[in-house]
Amino acid sequence: MKIPNVEKMAEYYTRILEELGADIESEGLRETPMRAAKALVEMTEGARMATDKLLTMFKAECQTSVCHDMVIVEGIKETGLCEHHLLPILMSITIAYIPDKKILGLSKLSRIAGYFARRLQNQERTAHSIAVFIEQIVEPLGVAVLIDGKHMCAMARGVRDTHSIMKVNVMHGAFQKDQALREEFLNRLA
Ligand SMILES: [Zn+2]
Repeated sequence: MKIPNVEKMAEYYTRILEELGADIESEGLRETPMRAAKALVEMTEGARMATDKLLTMFKAECQTSVCHDMVIVEGIKETGLCEHHLLPILMSITIAYIPDKKILGLSKLSRIAGYFARRLQNQERTAHSIAVFIEQIVEPLGVAVLIDGKHMCAMARGVRDTHSIMKVNVMHGAFQKDQALREEFLNRLA
């Protein structure tokens, strides 16, 4: 796994600022290249977590379940980076699953969302990755991942559309096969 060299990244940011004609010696900008480099590293940190290690870690956190009641964690706020423009996507992530023999605490689901959000990404892939990862950990009867995303690349540039929200729904297993279950789930959302 490549570890980013923040000094090198800060140098590149300095060049970008110079190219923009900015006064890089000014008080406001002096530390900006290093701050920007560190921000980019932080916002992509999920990509540097090895999936097999995450799987082992979360599998160990599972508990035994005897019931098949739907588990929902709604409105997890995460920020990712659009891989086309390197601009933030502000996401609200909802995860639901129907346990078979194992369950995972709600805070763990939020952490999983974070690992997959903080990457260079597109929203469909993020939703799909979260669903597949949860399937591998709890082996549920079904899993659903919904992501509502506000894309800064659409809001701050190009079409400058400040209102649209991109919605992605990924439904696997029972959620895909059973329409009544899918409706029950969608009706339960606030
Ligand atoms: Zn974009």
